[in-house]
Amino acid sequence: MSKNVPELYGSLVFGDRVMREKLPKDVYKALRKTIDENLPLERSVANAVAVAMKEWAVEHGATHFTHWFQPMTGFTAEKHDSFISPVGNGEVIMDFSGKELIKGEPDASSFPSGGLRATFEARGYTAWDPTSPAFIKDGTLYIPTAFCSYSGEALDKKTPLLRSMETLSHEAVRILHLLGDEAVTGVSTTIGPEQEYFLVDKAMYEKRKDLVFTGRTLLGAPAPKGQEMEDHYFGALRPRVAAFMHDLDEELWKLGVPAKTKHNEVAPAQHELAPVFDTANIAVDHNQLTMEMMKLVADRHGLTCLLHEKPFDGINGSGKHNNWSLITNTGSNLLYPGRTPAENTKFLVFLMAVIKAVDEYADLLRVSVASAGNDHRLGANEAPPAIVSVFLGDELTAVLKSIENDEYFGKQEKVAMQMGTSVIPQFFKDTTDRNRTSPFAFTGNKFEFRMPGSSLSVSGPNVVLNTAVAQALREFYDELKDAAPDQMDSAVHELVKRAIKKHKKVIFNGNGYTDEWVAEAEKRGLYNLRSTPEALPQMVAEKNIRLFTSHNIFTEGEVRSRYTILLENYCKTLHVEAKTMGMMVRQQFLPAVLSTMNSLAGDIAACKAVAATVPCGAQQGELETLAGYYQEITAAQKKLEKDLAQAEELGNGQEAACFYRDTILPDMDAVRKGADAAEAYLPAGSLPYPDYTELLFSV
Ligand code: ADP
Ligand code: MG
Repeated sequence: MSKNVPELYGSLVFGDRVMREKLPKDVYKALRKTIDENLPLERSVANAVAVAMKEWAVEHGATHFTHWFQPMTGFTAEKHDSFISPVGNGEVIMDFSGKELIKGEPDASSFPSGGLRATFEARGYTAWDPTSPAFIKDGTLYIPTAFCSYSGEALDKKTPLLRSMETLSHEAVRILHLLGDEAVTGVSTTIGPEQEYFLVDKAMYEKRKDLVFTGRTLLGAPAPKGQEMEDHYFGALRPRVAAFMHDLDEELWKLGVPAKTKHNEVAPAQHELAPVFDTANIAVDHNQLTMEMMKLVADRHGLTCLLHEKPFDGINGSGKHNNWSLITNTGSNLLYPGRTPAENTKFLVFLMAVIKAVDEYADLLRVSVASAGNDHRLGANEAPPAIVSVFLGDELTAVLKSIENDEYFGKQEKVAMQMGTSVIPQFFKDTTDRNRTSPFAFTGNKFEFRMPGSSLSVSGPNVVLNTAVAQALREFYDELKDAAPDQMDSAVHELVKRAIKKHKKVIFNGNGYTDEWVAEAEKRGLYNLRSTPEALPQMVAEKNIRLFTSHNIFTEGEVRSRYTILLENYCKTLHVEAKTMGMMVRQQFLPAVLSTMNSLAGDIAACKAVAATVPCGAQQGELETLAGYYQEITAAQKKLEKDLAQAEELGNGQEAACFYRDTILPDMDAVRKGADAAEAYLPAGSLPYPDYTELLFSV
């Protein structure tokens, strides 16, 4: 099966190659200027682009177009319109105008707005984002768009991301000019999101109401084997999984998504896909597309892709590592330390800006990854703790320490790797080992933010990162702007020194999974926001509202609406989970227990009927055990139902969120504890759904 991948790659994307080919030269140039320099687009240009786009799409079999947007649900949304336009005599032509390309008008009233928009003000707009290329999927032309309300408030995840990229670029360029790099006119954020996921058999998935309704198993005793043998990580791909991954790569390549790395992850049935990084806006769109395609392609292979943060108890859940860096339009990575980081002024300024940003807005970073699903992961010895800290590694830590103490930093020479055999080609070691337990780790020329959950849109974390770093750069600029050019180096040195002293508390190179670190972090005064209801109120803390409003990312109203939406989402998620659990327990689990008890009772009675001497103490013991569990589970389930009724009274605000966390979650744990213990006493096949062994080891 030899495919011409370069030809396949991007074949369904209205990208640069197609644009150059299809657009008149002046139109191409104008569009390129819009994309590269964020300049507004003339209507005449939009009209010409629309014509070319439609022609190209129709050539590729498209009959429809859709404005593709990212509402606050965290998923993508689309409404399809056909290209047909009647021309009389019962005939149609395929038509698409610049107006249709630029603006759409979906009814916005059924998307979460957090109170920004009442239902009677239903109007919402989608607006073409020319910086992210249109593509064809399922015979439809997809046009990436931003989504806002009639009065202009952002109702989506793209608008704030674009705003944050602009403020960061602005602040970065200003300080680069001050540092003598006059050639730079723009700085982009680059992101490479590594995506973890599970694959299970589709027929099995469909039998599990918990997976169908909530994305995670609410009941289920562990399989005899979990991940303790460490044999799945990077293990050979089983044929069905390999076929899925192969297909997925091809579909993603056609859509111009640079899928690069794929491998088995730590937990059984868990896998990962990493793309080559791209500018933030495109990378976020691509990650949304990747998650959609994972589900679609899995379906074709009789599989279901689970993107929940914690689908199974007792084994690892899934995250999404957000690799983040900054690149100038002249092509230099601002987080690349070079051979002599201690003497690399630009690098030190940007490194310190990131450290300062993470220290001052650690709470917002935590908020940006907060969700009911991710609460099962963070701080659970499989993912970073809920405490945000920065890992720098030995070399950079030593560099900063030498600056802080006015000492000379000797250059670290690269060391050749000694493998003890001459047949292996020689290579050099990295100057720092990796640290897997840090939530925010420097990894050579980028930072890796490891807290996001697997299903999250990475827009949110990057909005916070970009804006917080922009703010740090803005403050640094103010500190440096009056220094004479020949004094700049020493001014930067002093600035870095001050910043290290102030922010070194957020740097931690040790093991983030230990209790000692939790205690130490508390001593250092770092946030430890353990749960979503505890984290979310930080979103509307005064300093954080000020950050967002002063960089024009959100109005105060927009911030508050997002807080409302996140709270609602948390409450509703737990509400659905509790109801689903009740349904499974009452309709499926307890009846299976009862039927086993009946059969045991029948057996005991039969034995006794044959002869009083037939021993049946064992059966009786089993029956008593199961009867005990039956009482326990029923009582726990009743308590859950009673408390759930109370939760419903509370609505979906902060108080309700805390009640769900403090009462409903422990109630659900109690039901599950009884059920999972009872499961061991049930004969194979007595539950109407597959157990952990079947789910995790059948693909
Ligand atoms: P590792 O995590 O093993 O070091 P890589 O260096 O390949 O692996 O990086 C993992 C992810 O980080 C990939 O998605 C990669 O594209 C992304 N990445 C690499 N360089 C950058 C960068 N400059 N900006 C953003 N992401 C990057
Ligand atoms: Mg990683």
